Amino acid sequence: MRYSVDFLIVGAGIVGMFTAYNILEKYQNKKKIIIIDKEKEVGIHASGKNSGVIHAGIYYTPDSLKAKFCIEGNKFLTDYCEKNGIPINKVGKLIVPTCVEELRKLHDLYDRAKRNGAQVELVSHKQAKEIEPKVRVFEQAIWSPKTSTIDPVKLIYKLYEQLMDRGVSFLFNCRILSLKPMENMILLNTQGKDVVLIWNDKFINCAGLYADMIARKFGLAKNYIILPFRGMYYQINKKVLNTNVYPVPTSKYFLGVHWTVYDDKTKVGPNAFTAFWRENYQGLNNFSLSELIQTVSLNIILLLKNKEYRINALKELKKIRKKDFIEEAFKLVEMGSMLNIDDFIKAVPGIRAQILNLKNFELEEDFIVENTENSVHILNIVSPGLTASYPLTKMIVEKFI
Ligand SMILES: Cc1cc2nc3c(=O)[nH]c(=O)nc-3n(C[C@H](O)[C@H](O)[C@H](O)COP(=O)(O)OP(=O)(O)OC[C@H]3O[C@@H](n4cnc5c(N)ncnc54)[C@H](O)[C@@H]3O)c2cc1C
Repeated sequence: MRYSVDFLIVGAGIVGMFTAYNILEKYQNKKKIIIIDKEKEVGIHASGKNSGVIHAGIYYTPDSLKAKFCIEGNKFLTDYCEKNGIPINKVGKLIVPTCVEELRKLHDLYDRAKRNGAQVELVSHKQAKEIEPKVRVFEQAIWSPKTSTIDPVKLIYKLYEQLMDRGVSFLFNCRILSLKPMENMILLNTQGKDVVLIWNDKFINCAGLYADMIARKFGLAKNYIILPFRGMYYQINKKVLNTNVYPVPTSKYFLGVHWTVYDDKTKVGPNAFTAFWRENYQGLNNFSLSELIQTVSLNIILLLKNKEYRINALKELKKIRKKDFIEEAFKLVEMGSMLNIDDFIKAVPGIRAQILNLKNFELEEDFIVENTENSVHILNIVSPGLTASYPLTKMIVEKFI
């Protein structure tokens, strides 16, 4: 079978799907779009396995794409959820220091948030306790009223329904057999059938954990490689806090184990420990020997070369045991005898498609976009990728598509 489309998108995650949404907007539904995915449905990877927090733009380096798009994304997703009947928990969040050193960092974070245009308040110990009596606070906290939480699976299924209604085609269970960038052609196998797809306009790579490999086929991402980081969660099947509670981050890459509040449950996590292969969710599922060798080798080099990475890895190692993980979370809140360790059950983990720069052995902080004449590649879409997905892909569509 041979099909021709205007735009071919790889990846039925939130980024691929909002890219399609923005193409429809730009070309007033006149273009033929297909989204292909190797899985059997939408949102199987990061987009369906994240904290579901609509972030408020606090943490990111000013002038970064993350800073630029997080606040706009927050407004967009809040409206989108409200218009489309997706439940949204507008519970805000407290960022709480636990010692004098963290209080100093909290003030830096507050200044950064203000520079980014985020709506935040510096509140006293007493005010923080009024918002959430169980919180532990050293003197002051940041209050972010605009942080909220959603079920990301509900969001992606609503978007899926809307894209289908507007004529976007989806092809699932796709295995790419060959990709010929010079001929605008991809050969794939889906459900036993070989299919040739020709794209007339652009190939758009939103492949998450495999986006680097696909970009390399177009001669891009030469210095980039994905180093997957697994985020594990524990869950309590009831709402035990009024608001989300976060630590003051000690790493520039990850936010630290926090408490996330939904209407019917509370999650603690995620940690950020290396995944041994890209889709290392559970046991030996999706095992790949070549990926195992690659991530272990890269980790050894990073542990030797990058001091911050080494410090962070040691901290994460300490949280591997459930007891230590939960103890870390209890540094932020006091539950008395209300909860014990058996109330926390393991929840589905997520894996971050973190890019490592092979030139300087640093983890890339910002979202990355690369392009050729007939393709666009969207890489390093780590947190707050869910929040920023709409305005980020709107900019990409306006500029490159
Ligand atoms: C643990 C964790 C917690 C997070 N929490 C938050 C949060 O609270 N708030 C927030 O804003 N962001 C959060 N994020 C970030 C957010 O989830 C991601 O930025 C976002 O989901 C990335 O979407 P994506 O579409 O790029 O990737 P994905 O959802 O991974 O989609 C990529 C798709 O490409 C497909 N694919 C890959 N290779 C191929 C191939 N060769 N052929 C065909 N298809 C292919 C995959 O099957 C997948 O469906 C979190 C991420 C993680 C991992």
